[in-house]
Amino acid sequence: MRIRKLPTLLVNQIAAGEVIERPASVVKELIENSLDAGATRIDITIEQGGATLIRISDDGAGIAEDDLLLAVEPHATSKLASAADLEAIGTFGFRGEALASIGSIARLRITSRATAEGRTAESGATLEVAGERISGVLPAGCAPGTVIEVRDLFYNTPARRKFMRSPQAEIGRINDTVQRTAMMHPRVAFTLSHNDRKTLDLPQTPDRARRCIDVLGKDIEEALLEFEHRELRGEAGQLPISVWGLAGLPSIARGNGTAQYLAINGRPIRDRNLQHAIKEAYRGLMPMDRFPVAVVFLEMDPRQVDVNVHPAKAEVRFRQPSAVHGVVLSALRQRLLGADLTPSVGASDGGWRGSMDQRAGPGPSPAPGPGSGTGHGPSHATEPPRSASQFVDYFRQMDPKQKGFVYEEVKRELAKDNPMFAADADDDSPALPLAAHPSVATILQVRNSYVVTEDEDGGILIVDQHALHERVMFEELSRRVLGEGKPLESQRLLMPEVVRAGASRQALLEELNPLLERIGIEAEPMGPDAVGVHAFPSFLFSRGVEVVPFMEELLDKAEAGDLAAGDATAIESALHEVIDLMSCKAAVKAGDRMTPEELNALLARRGEIERSSNCPHGRPTTLRLTLKDLEKRFGRT
Ligand code: ADP
Ligand code: MG
Repeated sequence: MRIRKLPTLLVNQIAAGEVIERPASVVKELIENSLDAGATRIDITIEQGGATLIRISDDGAGIAEDDLLLAVEPHATSKLASAADLEAIGTFGFRGEALASIGSIARLRITSRATAEGRTAESGATLEVAGERISGVLPAGCAPGTVIEVRDLFYNTPARRKFMRSPQAEIGRINDTVQRTAMMHPRVAFTLSHNDRKTLDLPQTPDRARRCIDVLGKDIEEALLEFEHRELRGEAGQLPISVWGLAGLPSIARGNGTAQYLAINGRPIRDRNLQHAIKEAYRGLMPMDRFPVAVVFLEMDPRQVDVNVHPAKAEVRFRQPSAVHGVVLSALRQRLLGADLTPSVGASDGGWRGSMDQRAGPGPSPAPGPGSGTGHGPSHATEPPRSASQFVDYFRQMDPKQKGFVYEEVKRELAKDNPMFAADADDDSPALPLAAHPSVATILQVRNSYVVTEDEDGGILIVDQHALHERVMFEELSRRVLGEGKPLESQRLLMPEVVRAGASRQALLEELNPLLERIGIEAEPMGPDAVGVHAFPSFLFSRGVEVVPFMEELLDKAEAGDLAAGDATAIESALHEVIDLMSCKAAVKAGDRMTPEELNALLARRGEIERSSNCPHGRPTTLRLTLKDLEKRFGRT
């Protein structure tokens, strides 16, 4: 084939392929244009997850009538004039690519009324683009500012259209994009509506912490520590950097990094180096597989950071990455060390603060979780409730371990008068049955964590109680849910437990529904940013697992892509993941005292299940010292 110059439409479509991946990318580009135009309010209207309509209106400087045609040309921008400008980019846009790209893959309409040097044009003008067709510029009545409408995204690029996910999933991403950007621009008001429902309403405020909390949720306000570190002039060859942010207490840490908000000079970014600095700052304060909630906004001379390395500008390159790492690490460290990180035990309100890591064993963690057996029931627990609603409060605030206990006891009591209740009392839930097995041998529990006993051949077994119990439950749950295909027995809650979940998490939950059904969880959206859990597996309940932290962790996993629903094999592997989580949460913890009967039962199960030598994550459950080993070590052979 001879070499040919590509037609403009195709060039633009190729460019669009890099910048516009999905509706959220359109939203990102358009919001950034509005911010570049100095807008103080930005209203975003979406229909069908952005597939049919994305409309962004702002009150910014607008585009002069004479410039309208240029705005949709590729490589036409008002923001960059020379190569020197490229060295220090102070605007979001600079490539002049977004509008041309969008116009090549969607029906685009721009309506604008410009303000220049304090004078607003008498009327506005409008222009439409669809593929190669560009309308003439027509006069239009409109308020000062710009309205951009994008309809039928990817209508002429079917391959791209196929990659769009459900409207719920797409609006979730749009929501995330708007939130991340809005966090850094508290003086700009943002609203977002989807299918005529307002899902985000962020009023103007001069206070950046306020804006971040408006986005992150008031319920975690008290678990956020504000920090700031300014370096007015860089020391010996160092660049001047300042950093401001919010550091979440270890108690609200998550299972993935989605609650970390990083930005450089007002531009949201992803950056491994910075994520690492955050993680390091929390070393020793939480298990290394947890992700702190953190807002980290950096400001520095734009010449010290190259934003021109990623088509959607989501990644940047720092000239001195290690200096940036150091500043963030030390600013966060200082703040964390200066704070009292002991979790407030009274505040086990079932909200985010309850999502402490339950595996916190007797290790060096300074923050014992609710699962570690310290009595942390609120004072109410001793006051009997008087009215029905009081009972509900009382029940909700009770120590989860007690809750499980009460449930079993109530069930037994009810069964006395009414045999109907007895019917489900013998569900084959894999909780440890008491005294169901004859005593095996002498059993010793060491440090409430390890179990030492004798095996059939006279050797010594040392068992990690958590690891073995985890495996036992994993096998039994798998047998039931995957093998027999029976859903787990579930218990309806008197009052739904409320889990914070924005649009994207709600969408995830919807996708997970078929899966949740099989393990006995019933949950549905409750307003724009919460999910109500109406039923929960009885077995988790009886093992004292709290609903909210469990659901949070499940959603974290889903968000990390570990629970992709889809075809049968995907569901099967997702179920494995969920059962794994359930087993881990329900298993006795290191540090839990066990009765002789429980120890007996646990060891008896060891012989009955498959793969008892390792826990579901592959760590050993048991170490064995054979009689031969002993004889050798004592020099008897
Ligand atoms: P870039 O942002 O890289 O300059 P775009 O294609 O996004 O390129 O926009 C092209 C030009 O259109 C911008 O440089 C700006 O002059 C103008 N423009 C786009 N959106 C707006 C807006 N909302 N308000 C004012 N001007 C705008
Ligand atoms: Mg732009």
